[in-house]
Amino acid sequence: MGSAFSLPHTHRLLIGDLSTLPEQEQKLFNLSKYVLDLKNEKIGTVSPDLSIKIVALDEKKSDEIEQKKCAESHVTINSVDVSCNAIDLETSDNENLNDVISLFYLLVTNKPYYFSQTFSQWKSFTDFSILLPLMCCQGEKRKIYIQPVDSFPSFITEAEFNINSYGGSFDFFGLLKAMMDIYFEGMTVNLLPNIDVMQSKWKIKSRLHHKTQKKQYFVQDFYKSLQKSMPSDGRCIMGISWTDLYPTEKLNFVLGEANYGTMSGIFCFGRYEPKFYDPDTHRDITEINGKLMWRILKVLTHETCHLFGLQHCWYFQCAMNESNSMQEAASQPIFLCPVCLRKLQHTCGFDVLSRYKKMLPFLRDISEIYPIPEFLHSVKWLKKCIEFIESSANVT
Ligand SMILES: [Zn+2]
Ligand SMILES: [Zn+2]
Repeated sequence: MGSAFSLPHTHRLLIGDLSTLPEQEQKLFNLSKYVLDLKNEKIGTVSPDLSIKIVALDEKKSDEIEQKKCAESHVTINSVDVSCNAIDLETSDNENLNDVISLFYLLVTNKPYYFSQTFSQWKSFTDFSILLPLMCCQGEKRKIYIQPVDSFPSFITEAEFNINSYGGSFDFFGLLKAMMDIYFEGMTVNLLPNIDVMQSKWKIKSRLHHKTQKKQYFVQDFYKSLQKSMPSDGRCIMGISWTDLYPTEKLNFVLGEANYGTMSGIFCFGRYEPKFYDPDTHRDITEINGKLMWRILKVLTHETCHLFGLQHCWYFQCAMNESNSMQEAASQPIFLCPVCLRKLQHTCGFDVLSRYKKMLPFLRDISEIYPIPEFLHSVKWLKKCIEFIESSANVT
């Protein structure tokens, strides 16, 4: 490519030093190089709703991509069509759920690579905030607390899930804890007893939504209270509420928010988004179905990642993509892209392959309970990713 963006030093800024990692892991993390190759200043403006499919490479495909990259290096500016032809662009809809070849879809923007949070930016940010408590002689905190807020309907509290690959039967919150155990492997995840906002000393503003007449809590009021109720060995705390949340007086609703300063966040899942409120079809959720379970697991892990200092990702289709609607949130993958995964791994210290190997049977069991495309695709993705990591394919 010949661009300053593709120098090894730049790759280190993007993904950190990989030299101490097992070779197999390096291969996965090295897929991040495509970001540098494609964020070449010569590419120019490309429609952001297009993405590039990064495939698990065998040698033949590797050659094809090399050729395409060569073709792309001749592109000058504002050459959307040329870029499309040269780099095999595809629209990033979810029609391709059955396509198991692709591992990551590169998001193409004309922004420089450091527009999105690089590994180095993330590290300086988190190192600085970790430094202060360490100076007060506190050890590194490695516990994540989950705090259920207020009561939940009986179809939630009485639900049971058979996850045989992970030790048998779980109730709803046990299932969430198990998912968190795997996703944040290396941390300890603890579930706190429910807290009743009215009976507690928490001062949380609430309102009745003007259309639905449903109670909503002001999300930002939770941060300090959650922080205070977190046991002293906690790194972060994530609240879960059935009751709706709202972010500002003017806005209708928010799915969830996390606040790094207080290491606390909260999300809700009780109702449909009032933005889509339709008096004829609107109804409260009365059962846990696949879509709901997918949304819960997605939002829970996404918001918790924010508490590990991860910002929104603009590199790949990734669990850390920003979402502005329920549909957008649901359409994003539950897996982190190489750059975001590297940040989480740096803190949690997990082995990438063994984490994926734990996640696979767990999500397969969930996909048997809820055989929706999102879970089925996730299982296929994990299989393909594990296969790629264990194969002799080389991407460098
Ligand atoms: Zn977010
Ligand atoms: Zn990412």
